Amino acid sequence: MKSKMETLKGKNITDASHKDLYDVICAIVSEEVNKGWLKTEEHCKQKQPKQVYYLSMEFLIGRLLESNLLNVGMWKVCNESLRRLGFTPTDVYKEEHDPGLGNGGLGRLAACFLDSLATLSYPGHGFCIRYRYGMFEQRFINGYQTELPDYWLKEPYPWETRRADEAIEVQFGGNVTMLKRNDGSLEFKHENTDKVLAVPYDVPVVGYNNEFVNTLRLWSAEQVDSASHLHAATSNYYQQLEHNHSIEQISGMLYPDDSTDEGKRLRIKQEYFLVAASLKKIINDYKAMKQKSLIHLHEKVVIQINDTHPSMAIPEMMRILMDEEGFGWENAWAITTKVFAYTNHTIMSEALEKWPISMIQELLPRLYMIIDEINERFCQGIWFDYPELRDSIPQMAIIADGQIHMAHLAIVGSFSVNGVAQLHTDILKNHEMKNFNKLYPERFNNKTNGITHRRWLLMANPRLANLISETIGTRWVNRPRELTHLLRYVNDNPLLERLGHVKEKNKQDLARYIHQTTGILVDDQSIFDVQIKRMHEYKRQLLNIFHVIYLYNELKENPQLDITPRTFIFCAKAAPGYYFAKEIIKLINTVASIVNHDATINGKIKVVFLENYNVSLAEKIVPAADVSEQISTASKEASGTGNMKMMMNGALTIGTLDGANIEIKNLVGDPNIFIFGLRAEEVNAYYQSGQYSASDMYHNDERITQIMDQLRDGIFGHHDTEFTDIYYHLLSTNDPFFILKDFESYVETHQLIDEAYRHQDKWLSKSIVNIAHSGKFSSDRTIQEYATGIWKLDKQLK
Ligand SMILES: *Cc1c(COP(=O)(O)O)cnc(C)c1O
Repeated sequence: MKSKMETLKGKNITDASHKDLYDVICAIVSEEVNKGWLKTEEHCKQKQPKQVYYLSMEFLIGRLLESNLLNVGMWKVCNESLRRLGFTPTDVYKEEHDPGLGNGGLGRLAACFLDSLATLSYPGHGFCIRYRYGMFEQRFINGYQTELPDYWLKEPYPWETRRADEAIEVQFGGNVTMLKRNDGSLEFKHENTDKVLAVPYDVPVVGYNNEFVNTLRLWSAEQVDSASHLHAATSNYYQQLEHNHSIEQISGMLYPDDSTDEGKRLRIKQEYFLVAASLKKIINDYKAMKQKSLIHLHEKVVIQINDTHPSMAIPEMMRILMDEEGFGWENAWAITTKVFAYTNHTIMSEALEKWPISMIQELLPRLYMIIDEINERFCQGIWFDYPELRDSIPQMAIIADGQIHMAHLAIVGSFSVNGVAQLHTDILKNHEMKNFNKLYPERFNNKTNGITHRRWLLMANPRLANLISETIGTRWVNRPRELTHLLRYVNDNPLLERLGHVKEKNKQDLARYIHQTTGILVDDQSIFDVQIKRMHEYKRQLLNIFHVIYLYNELKENPQLDITPRTFIFCAKAAPGYYFAKEIIKLINTVASIVNHDATINGKIKVVFLENYNVSLAEKIVPAADVSEQISTASKEASGTGNMKMMMNGALTIGTLDGANIEIKNLVGDPNIFIFGLRAEEVNAYYQSGQYSASDMYHNDERITQIMDQLRDGIFGHHDTEFTDIYYHLLSTNDPFFILKDFESYVETHQLIDEAYRHQDKWLSKSIVNIAHSGKFSSDRTIQEYATGIWKLDKQLK
């Protein structure tokens, strides 16, 4: 480190700044990483194994220096050297700008998957867009969310390599003409298009301790070349500028909305840009292998599409095979449907992508023709071969009501369709996609999500990781299922005590961070009750804050009330255009400022809303959580992965029977989790029958009446009408997420938590049971299931 500092920076290590150290360590690690990268590429060139390509509009990779250090085996040494030189390692690591190339769970999942792929020595690559502006930076001003642009490339990003020689041209718009070839077949000429250059930036994805390094390729949109764009004497300078501007917009910014499709035209362009550039690269690589024909593409290539965002890859593959490679429809379709696999992430109808026909026609005219043909053949196929489904054709069609239903396109064009937790897959098969399941029962399968235990336990919580290793040895690091060996220690008092000590230390660290960043002093002996995730009505942060208001009301009534002190910790970004979500942020901040400053409640409860939730903030909070809030309306959270992170770090879950919570419950057993609320079937039955009345709930439960009236009457607002919208919204929409309905069982379950926490030994043994069973939720397990069940990949052994 010392000599590198001298040669790279011309500085003495004693004079180095944190940034100098960061740069130098990156350079040292990169040398290691690059060796493995080259080796892996050579290996794959030799062996030509089948590869998976993971197409995703989001990769929320988090900071890479620490995880790369860990994976190349230099983490501990580096930490020690830094400490010896008088530096705090975390001060150096936080010099890295955490790239926000994703919104939340879906993007983080993609990142965990790449980590596990490389670690299990599977050849696989990610493709995404190199957004110049990632997820916005969130600040609170007077309790309101404001969004600041996240220009993460201001400083050079040390992990990317620009590969201009591998740039690919992508075409938009233009017109399509049909010609008859001599043999009578049709040829489609696509002309007068707008051309955009996709320039790749490659980021290494480093396997743990195996010198196996895959690639995350980020595409950046640039002009093809400025000269060729002065195409018409008619186009003046300003039009030219505008044109260039619109090109750069394609990789300009991430859509800061993880559910709906705002800014449709630009979003379509982004999706097609990702898809077109990636497929071209995939096919180029295949051809470089000197395969006989693209007929055998599926023997070497499988493409996983992460949600429908990249599903235009299906018609794009057809276009390439037919228009550029000369295949007829039947063969092209046979190839395509053996290559694609689709992961569904949501059943919420407002989040299912649908694009207006007119837009696709204008932006991607040739692709539209192909989608139309896929739809025609699909609908005819049902009509002739599945007469019992004829009535369902309108609901199943890819094109209907002037729109293109991307989920239907993805299902029809893929050989595999998977949900992300058992309940979610069951709902897909039996409700949402019931008819498709009748058509293609062999396509549907479940792959419960996972998280990389290397980042989320080994790296984020070294105290706990060390304690585990001292107790059961280190084999769990490579075989996380062996965490179950901890079950032998659930009643081992010395271990329980040490576990309590680890949690205490982690809570002290977080308390210090909270104090530094917000000025709020929290009791580090209190229960750290944590809800960190995107702000969404279905995730029900509102239910959480209702519980806080209820406790506050109780304490005001009776200041002597004997409750276990609690710190409620929130993090959540709201989509900039999601008004109601922003209202809830403001409400939580308002309740926080009242509760935290009210001396009469003796600091028994505190509310902390930390700004700007992202991966590195999650890494600080997760190790300190006692209680993990996973309280979505049953059936709405496809899986969740935050639930897995906190369980793995010893938090106990309070949750509904939703997503992967069910699988957590099945493993740890009822005594070790706090389940409450309506079940998915009950929620569905209420939707079907219309028998639920929010107004009855409001009138019949005094606690709810009080809270709602406080919102209506401006008790928590800075002015009288501040939160009346929440009051009216809940009643006028009849509380579609059952916040009022689940309130009672939520409050009662929190009372059980309050009680349970008083018995630390019992609490800690529940905590151990959770850690012990968390191995199932390592993304290594998930990737193993994808690799054998869907991708049919071979592990590359050296
Ligand atoms: C894990 C994670 C999520 C997903 O959290 P859920 O609770 O599953 O919604 C979102 N954002 C970040 C930054 C994460 O690390």
